[in-house]
Amino acid sequence: MVLSSVLGFPRIGANREVKKAVEAYWAGKLSAEDLIKAAADVKKSSWTSLKERGVDLIPSGEFSLYDHVLDHSAAFNAIPKRYQGLGLSALDVFFAMGRGRQAGGVDVPACEMKKWHVFDSNYHFVVPELSEETDFKLLYNKALIEYKEAKAAGVVTRPVVLGPISYLVLGKAAKEASATFQPISLLPKILPVYKQLLSELKAAGVESVQIDEPILVLDKGADLDKQYAFAYAELVPVAPKIMLTTYFNRLDSNINFIAKLPVAGLHIDLVRAPQQLGEVLAAIKSTPIVISLGVVSGRNIWKADFAAAIKYAQTAIAALGADRVIVATSSSLLHTPVTLASEKKLTEQQRDWFSFALEKASEVATIAAVLSGSQDPKVSAALEANKVSIAKRRQFESTSDDAVRKRVAAITPDMYDRKSPFATRKEVQAKHLNLPKFPTTTIGSFPQTKEIRTARAKLGKGEISEAEYDEFIKKEIEMVVKFQEKVGLDLLVHGEPERNDMVQYFGEQLNGFVFTQNAWVQSYGSRYVRPPIIVSDVSRPTPMTVKWSSYAQSVSTKPMKGMLSGPVTILNWSFPRDDVPRKLQSQQLALALRDEVLDLEKAGISAIQVDEPAIREGLPLRRSDWDEYLQWAVDTFKLSTAGVSDATQTHSHFCYSDFGDIFPSIQRLDADVISIEFSKSDMKLLHTFKQYGYSNQIGPGVYDIHSPRVPSEKEIIERLQTTLAIIPDHLMFINPDCGLKTRGWKETEASLTNLVAAARWARANA
Ligand code: GLN
Ligand code: ZN
Repeated sequence: MVLSSVLGFPRIGANREVKKAVEAYWAGKLSAEDLIKAAADVKKSSWTSLKERGVDLIPSGEFSLYDHVLDHSAAFNAIPKRYQGLGLSALDVFFAMGRGRQAGGVDVPACEMKKWHVFDSNYHFVVPELSEETDFKLLYNKALIEYKEAKAAGVVTRPVVLGPISYLVLGKAAKEASATFQPISLLPKILPVYKQLLSELKAAGVESVQIDEPILVLDKGADLDKQYAFAYAELVPVAPKIMLTTYFNRLDSNINFIAKLPVAGLHIDLVRAPQQLGEVLAAIKSTPIVISLGVVSGRNIWKADFAAAIKYAQTAIAALGADRVIVATSSSLLHTPVTLASEKKLTEQQRDWFSFALEKASEVATIAAVLSGSQDPKVSAALEANKVSIAKRRQFESTSDDAVRKRVAAITPDMYDRKSPFATRKEVQAKHLNLPKFPTTTIGSFPQTKEIRTARAKLGKGEISEAEYDEFIKKEIEMVVKFQEKVGLDLLVHGEPERNDMVQYFGEQLNGFVFTQNAWVQSYGSRYVRPPIIVSDVSRPTPMTVKWSSYAQSVSTKPMKGMLSGPVTILNWSFPRDDVPRKLQSQQLALALRDEVLDLEKAGISAIQVDEPAIREGLPLRRSDWDEYLQWAVDTFKLSTAGVSDATQTHSHFCYSDFGDIFPSIQRLDADVISIEFSKSDMKLLHTFKQYGYSNQIGPGVYDIHSPRVPSEKEIIERLQTTLAIIPDHLMFINPDCGLKTRGWKETEASLTNLVAAARWARANA
């Protein structure tokens, strides 16, 4: 019998119930009890749907109202001091860590967030802050609570727990930690808490538990062999059967020590790294380890190819026997939308290409049933239907846009480079833009208010005309421009009110994309994005942003910065095609953007920002794969920007960019100005800029925009002082960490006023 399994499920709810409830709770419009109730309803519906679809091993415990790593820290009492003793409920401490809190005399910033797991997805987790003083104890057993909750709803689940080594390695040293402190040194201290957690599960009758150890697919996993041996020797005897779970990449040589662990099972990702199957099977053949094969993608929305999945599974069955093989999703389905059933506007042809989380659950169940020799006519019908769908998609994929393909083939090396070196450009731009020393600017978006969302929704429903909507957006732009003039910013933006999302907006205007109505995927906390889907060759039928940027310029005498999303980011934040390389998709996007950049320049826009916040996130997880990616990623960014004259100032922006280790590539982008998320980082990154002699302009973010908290003028000045000790003053721009779209107007005005005051201080004193 081959069992089927799903490693994790989206949290939002089919109708965004959880997002709405969380936000209503924050706004004081919903009680804690009602929030918990809303979450319980969504969990229950997910569990029962997975059961109905025939999934054998159903996850529980991975649900979160914000982030599961944060849940883990909260449950394990890894709560930094600044959140303690504030008189807050456990729930409010949890949210304060996630998003900061500034109310009722409490003023604490949020913990740092990083991209999951320092990996290659747009999901952000809240970084555990650890030190010698961290006093781990189990405040509550979330895995057990949710196991019982599911059981009460009639569903027996396999609880999911983030593994001790990955948890610690994902953490960072808290400020109070000693200089030599390494989070992993807490392993002996955290294991007793895990033992308690796992033995409570066992006592409650839990048969098996999924322990996520994604660090095992990283290069650094190799140095942790002793810790893994130590930890799992301690845990296995007291725990239910452990399914050690890895995803997003290959284990490589780490399999050698993993195969020696006393765990009951090992999950590997065969969508991202099918090539590892042979090696893994060989390594575990003579052990009792069960293999869980991730054959249905948890990262994409394409229908699984059953024939291919079955072939992999048969290889595993031939090596280990059917009882030692499980068919699973490659990773948690957290990174996919809930259900295709919510999509009413896809054509029949398009609908036939895709599978979202619930459909993927059916896929693993069907594949497992086929492998188990099921005679159920529904199973054979599903197998046949899949064959037909996959054949149709391959047929569609073979029809390419010749004009686009030819243009890509005709790219020449000179198209990657600006006409003159930066030093020359800087002088020309100084005259052309006439910005003061320490120019102040923002990253692009201004608050996306309810009015804006309502107007967009009305346009969507046909309740207002295109012309009425345009009028509304123009008014909004004018207001944002006047606001920036009033506050005293130097390089203005139009505020991006016309954009639902920085990627979706472009996708909607490009050929080659398909859109969904409800395909929401969590980015962080209650923030969800709806990635477009690239289905065929990409091109730009008409200008996408020129109308808005030039309108903004027409109502101000100050220079206006045009705002685009970069090719690598559009690619990384879309669901990409899986029939052609990412490089080709990025090149096609770059050519479309290059035309847009030149059109903006022609329309009199003298500064153009091409955001690449996702460039670091697209980096392959294994170092040996980096060079190939960085070559095309940087090249395609340059291809999109380098067409302009010397006088046009190119900007780029990065958030959460831990890019110390890819610094030469950041340099190679050759943007005139880069702005980076920085307010919550230490100075290490700036030292890297110095060390490499970075000579273009740079705006290290001076305040965090993920939180409604207003930074004081003094705080910003202090931030500038530390920054100016490292970055030469003539290269400095002053800006927030990122765009302001998720912020309210009140805090935006207060924060930017303080930012401008700090810039004035710098002009006078630095
Ligand atoms: N220009 C975008 C904005 O301001 C950039 C967003 C981002 O970097 N994530 O919203
Ligand atoms: Zn950003």
